[in-house]
This record gives sequence, structure tokens and C-alpha cells, in this order.
Amino acid sequence: MARIGCTHLMPSLLSPLKHHTSHCQLMFGLAGVGGTVGFGRAKARPFSSSRICMSLKAGIVGLPNVGKSTLFNAVVENGKAQAANFPFCTIEPNVGIVAVPDPRLNVLSDLSKSQRAVPASIEFVDIAGLVKGASQGEGLGNKFLSHIREVDSLLQVVRCFEDNDVIHVNGKVDPRSDIDVINLELVFSDLDQIEKRLDKLKKSKGRDSQSKVKEDAERSALEKIKIALLDGKPARSVTITDFEKEAVKHLCLLTMKPIIYVANVAESEVADPGSNPHVKEVMGLASELQSGLVTVSAQVESELTELPSEERTEYLQSLGVSESGLGNLIRATYSLLGLRTYFTSGEKETKAWTILAGMTAPQAAGVIHSDFEKGFIRAETVAYDDFVAAGSLAAAREKGVLRSEGKEYIVQEGDVMLFRFNV
Ligand code: GDP
Repeated sequence: MARIGCTHLMPSLLSPLKHHTSHCQLMFGLAGVGGTVGFGRAKARPFSSSRICMSLKAGIVGLPNVGKSTLFNAVVENGKAQAANFPFCTIEPNVGIVAVPDPRLNVLSDLSKSQRAVPASIEFVDIAGLVKGASQGEGLGNKFLSHIREVDSLLQVVRCFEDNDVIHVNGKVDPRSDIDVINLELVFSDLDQIEKRLDKLKKSKGRDSQSKVKEDAERSALEKIKIALLDGKPARSVTITDFEKEAVKHLCLLTMKPIIYVANVAESEVADPGSNPHVKEVMGLASELQSGLVTVSAQVESELTELPSEERTEYLQSLGVSESGLGNLIRATYSLLGLRTYFTSGEKETKAWTILAGMTAPQAAGVIHSDFEKGFIRAETVAYDDFVAAGSLAAAREKGVLRSEGKEYIVQEGDVMLFRFNV
């Protein structure tokens, strides 16, 4: 239910599948071009489990009055204006889905003479209510923390603008203190959870040798993480093995989530944010805490969304910049999560699909529909640049740059793909 926007993403894909369910003797299909030609028993299902795991959900957090809602509204409004074809929506007042800007999409769409172009999406959640003491139940307390648990990454808005008309909760603009407050609340919450879990593990004997190995890995990882947390450091700063990572994953530790600090600067500083000493401070902290940094002026972004498009460039020029900072923010969030894009492109539509770095061709096919993964045979694939140089899929095939890849193929950023599957 929480993903109505995304279920709209593939009507052209699912309708042929639905349409052909009565001809289920036909067991072969192609997916990828022209919005997919598919035959088989597949029923229209909005999501396979792999899609849910990698849905891109970024939570906007920060102290009160730092510009969270201003930024959230600007991101959502800007998204609506950028891509008319995308089924944007605000699922709840504080949840919005926006497009990931990608100039390659229109290039492919033009070459394939597609009827529409559908970008990859990202879900932003405005998580209000963090104050000092949240881990002890202050403010919205635990409710707030449970909202954070559900997102994949965090964007912490840090106030770097001075404005006497906007009250600062702690009396003055002080990014270090803002970052410390939030970091410590998350650290306390994780510590609490780890203590409880370690207690449980102490009593557990392990059902069999396999679960015992897992529990040992979990215990060892949690002990290491606990030491870092007691030192005020986030769990993501701790070096643990992939196996240990897997063993603690179920805890959804808050300080394990990747975080980007969004330094919210004044209008007059967008052209040269580095000149703002608060931004310099955030830069230093971001690298200490193993996190990213993006500078933005929430106020400017909010004003931009209210201007007609022809006046936007003029306004940006008057501020000494050439483009809005939101594209940057969205792209940074996307790459922070280790996400990659591949395309399907045909007359019906050109579409950007989101996958995790390192996914194989069948897994990437499963993002479109789980049956494409189950019945995967081969993928025909061409790199974006080769597709553009050739001008079309047919021309790419003639030139020999369209490759046939099997189950082991790791999908590369920008691949244009056509799946052969059998269901
Ligand atoms: P939140 O509590 O973090 O969601 O903060 P809001 O987005 O509601 O913003 C609080 C106040 O700060 C509002 O009056 C905004 O107009 C103002 N504000 C937000 N961003 C900026 C900014 O970049 N510059 C200035 N001068 N004011 C801002």
C-alpha cells in the first residue's frame, strides 16, 4: 500500500503478461524492448521480494527548524515538475516519490522513438520529531526512531544559515552540536538494542551447528560495534566481515545506515558554500563519521519550485549558479546506496530500472518481474555508449556490439538490456 507510486511503474509491462495468461502454453518471451513482449503464466504482481529489499527510501532527519520540511517539499515539488510521465505522488503527507534525474533516459527514448520515458525513482520520507533525549522517549522518541529503522539511508539536514527570525532550538547555529545530538541519540538507541540482543545471545545455545556459527558471528560483531558506540562512533565505522554484517543485519542498526549531511546554507552562499565556516565544520565531521556531504539552500530550492520554468534560470544566474542543487542531492543519495541503473528501451517506452551494484542478469530481470528471474535464459545487452553510437538496438546487433550474456553476467551501469525468459 505504501508504494502506490511504484506499482504504476510497469503497466505496459504487466498488461501483456496479463493479456496472455490465457495462452499459457506459449512458454517463451522477450522482455526489455517495446515495453516487453511476454508470454506465460505470470500474474500481475506489483512487487517481487527483491524489489522490496532494494526500494530506495531515504529519511530526512534533523533538529527542529533546520529546514527539513522546506527541503522535503522542494524535492517533491521539483520532482513533479521534472517528469510529467512519472506517477509521482505523496503517499502520506511526509512521504514522496521523485524521479532520479538521468539525461541518458531521454537520449535513449529519442533514439527508440519511445512513447514515454520512465525514470528510476527514489522515496523521500520527512521524519520529524528528533530532539535531544529521543532515545529516552523525549519528543516523539521511540516513534521517531522506529521510522528511521525503516529507511535505507539518512539525509541529515544541518542548519548552516544564519537567520535571526528562525529560532534555533539550541540558541545558536552550531552544526557540530546538531550533528552530535542526533548521532548520540542514534548511538544510544543502538547500544540499548545491542545490550538486549547480547543478553539474549548469552542465553541461547543455538539450535544446530549452523545457527551456532551464525550466533558466534553475530556476538563477535556486536561486541566490536558496542566498543565503537561507547566511544560515540557509528556502527558503520566498524570493520566487520561480510558474514558478520549479514548476521547483524536483522537488527537494522540505526548507525549502520549510510548518512549524508545536507548543509543548508543561506541564499547568498549557494555560489560559494565553502566560504561558510559552518559548512567547513560539517565537511570535517562528515569525513570523521564516514558519511557524505551535499550543500543546498532549502530556501532557494523552495522558491525555485514556485517560479515558472523560464524564470528559474534567471533566478539561479542571479545567485551565481547554473543549476538547482536538488539533482545533486538525489544523485548522491542514489549512489550512496550503491545503486545502479540499467535500461530497457523500445517503441512503447524507455525505462530506467534500479538494481544493486553486483547484481547478476537474472536478478536484474527479477526487478521487472519475478518470473523473468525464475525463467531467465539469456540477456542481450549493449553498453549505453555503444547503443547511442549505433543508433538503435538493430544497428547495435548488426555492428556486433549487442552481446548475449548468461546467468553469471554482472549487469553494468548503463546497460541497455533485453531479457529472454521461459516461464
Ligand atoms: P524543520 O522544522 O526542520 O522541518 O524546518 P522548516 O523546513 O519548517 O523550516 C523552519 C524555518 O526555517 C522556516 O521558516 C523556513 O522558511 C526557514 N528556512 C528553511 N531553510 C532556510 C534557508 O535555507 N534559509 C533561511 N533563511 N530560512 C530557511
